[in-house]
Amino acid sequence: MMKIEFQLTTHKQSEIIDITESVAKEISKSTIKDGMCVVFIPHTTCCVCVNENADKSVKDDILNTLNALIPRDGNYTHAEGNSDAHLKSSLIGSSRILIIEDGELFLGTWQGIYFCEFDGPRKRKVVLKLTGS
Ligand code: ZN
Repeated sequence: MMKIEFQLTTHKQSEIIDITESVAKEISKSTIKDGMCVVFIPHTTCCVCVNENADKSVKDDILNTLNALIPRDGNYTHAEGNSDAHLKSSLIGSSRILIIEDGELFLGTWQGIYFCEFDGPRKRKVVLKLTGS
């Protein structure tokens, strides 16, 4: 089992960043040929999802729809002023389990791994846990 961390910097309050290449590179560097990779985000106001990375407008649609469903200035009790970010993060989730096959990240043709920021800009961490043989 291997635990790997990498950092990224977000530049907007709401932003989706494609981290597919970073995850794929770490898997390729590892000795694991057949197994699983957990992608975990150790933050409460961002999250990770897998979706289409061929048409970049999908990222905009995800963000715009989440912002319409969960507005920044909703009627929340959390005093920090970032409740919308906590809600969006909870809805999508802080981890994904991905497949490692032949030593490489396995994804569908049109899929990418998206880091979703909802309370940026900030420095963020992505944690990977690789298991297998
Ligand atoms: Zn908060």
